[in-house]
Amino acid sequence: MNTAIYPGSFDPVTNGHLNIISRAAKSFDKLIVCVMVNADKRPMFTALERVELLRRVTADIPNVEIAHSDRLLADFARERNCGVIVKGLRAMSDFEREFQMALINRKLNPGLDTMFLTAEHQFMYLSSSIVKEMGHYGADLRDFLPEQIIDDFRSRLAELNEK
Ligand code: ADP
Repeated sequence: MNTAIYPGSFDPVTNGHLNIISRAAKSFDKLIVCVMVNADKRPMFTALERVELLRRVTADIPNVEIAHSDRLLADFARERNCGVIVKGLRAMSDFEREFQMALINRKLNPGLDTMFLTAEHQFMYLSSSIVKEMGHYGADLRDFLPEQIIDDFRSRLAELNEK
C-alpha cells in the first residue's frame, strides 16, 4: 500500500492544513496525519485534543488516519512502513527549514522521501499561530478554521485568557 505521512503541530488544524490533507489524500492509498508532540512547546490543545479535532474535520475522507507521536518522525515512518513525508510549503520562509528537515529525515531513514505541496494562494499567509493572534482580537475566523472546530477554539481561548 502506498502510504504517506503528513506531520505537524496542528495546534489547531487550519483550513490551510485541511487543504493539504485533502489534496495529498488523492495521491496516496493512505495518508497518516501525525500530530508531532514537542516537549519544548506549550500547546493550546493537548496532543489528544488535536487528534480529536483532526478526526472531526477529516471524517469525510476515508483514506485518512490520524495519529500522534513523540518520537523521531524517521522512526515513526519506518514503523508504519511508510516511504513518503508530505509537507506544505507556504513561502520561501518555509523552504530552508523544510529542506533541512527533509535531508535529516533521509539521513536517519534512507528509505524516506519528502514531497512538497505548494500552499493554495488563499492560505499562503495562514498559520496556527496567526489564527491564535487573530482570535485574541475577536476576528471572524471562518476563513481560517474549519467550521466544526471554531467553538472549541473560542472556548479554549477564553479559558486561557481567564488564567
Ligand atoms: P503551523 O503551526 O505553522 O501552522 P504546522 O507545524 O502545524 O504549522 O504545519 C505542518 C505542515 O503544514 C508544515 O509542512 C507546514 O508547512 C504546512 N502548513 C501549515 N500551514 C499551511 C498552509 N496554510 N498552507 C499549506 N501548508 C501549510
